[in-house]
Amino acid sequence: MVAAPVHNEKEPDKSDILQYIVARVNCLTARDPAPSLPVMTEPTVIAPGEGRTILLVVAHADDPALFLGGTLIRWADAGWRVVCVRVTDDRWDSCGPDEAETIAANAAEFREAAARLGLAEIVELGWATDVLGDASEVALREAVIRQIRRCRPYALVSFDPYAMWGEDNQDHIKLAAAVDEAFWTSQFPLHHPEHLAEGLAPHGCFERWYFGRSVTRVTDVVDIADVLDRKLAAALCHRTMMGNYVNQLRLQARTGGWSLPMLDAIAAGGDLNDFMAMLVRGGARQVGERHGLGPAEEFRVVRFGGLEGLLERFGQRLEAGG
Ligand SMILES: [Zn+2]
Repeated sequence: MVAAPVHNEKEPDKSDILQYIVARVNCLTARDPAPSLPVMTEPTVIAPGEGRTILLVVAHADDPALFLGGTLIRWADAGWRVVCVRVTDDRWDSCGPDEAETIAANAAEFREAAARLGLAEIVELGWATDVLGDASEVALREAVIRQIRRCRPYALVSFDPYAMWGEDNQDHIKLAAAVDEAFWTSQFPLHHPEHLAEGLAPHGCFERWYFGRSVTRVTDVVDIADVLDRKLAAALCHRTMMGNYVNQLRLQARTGGWSLPMLDAIAAGGDLNDFMAMLVRGGARQVGERHGLGPAEEFRVVRFGGLEGLLERFGQRLEAGG
């Protein structure tokens, strides 16, 4: 027998709803996506995937492992189907190889890392790297809308468009804006009707997860202690990009009159393990310490466009698959 839908006792009060929406709209107009929240002391509970999909949109091959590798592993372990779109081909992110070799190496290392992170599918858009600042935001948005309509995700995950402090990568900034707009334009039937002709119907994602170098108004902190070694193993796949990062650090240090033997050893052909372990373990520990927790990754999560309270107070639960 099918259980009756759960009705909330309280009848919807229209002025109450209006007040709630006005408060939210004012908040959003001020580009303030969430109310001020205290430091998290309880780690986020990862829900079972139950065959649901998460769509992750990144600019570069190393973004998944470095920004949220632990959480991706935990989602995959919990049964989520995680689809990852890589917008650029990282064609110039190397130090030594030429452009064609760089594209091939970074694509191969991305696939290797994706397997370690448990990503179910990767989508390569092949845009040029480090020039999204000049790309059309609307064209980029269309590419993301297409993937939202194709994958029909429960959650949409990308860079935090508000976390601009300390963010010097225009690929991240432009993509953050495009994904944030794709979230709502993917629901408009008149945006890209050519998708509909291809059988890709409008779709609304329920959750948005934002990550970044410094996430604003953190709402969720994921405990990654149990999967930190696996995150590190995924990050270590990016030998080509990390080799270039090491070179950048050496150039800066040299200008300041310094050398760092650890970096010199890597540049001379040594392995990246100690350096990457320092970055990945140290970074996760720092994030966790801010919240009184062990190694962690932090996010701002917005559910139901920030109107979640409406569902809790006035919504009815649909039957599974409804
Ligand atoms: Zn990146």
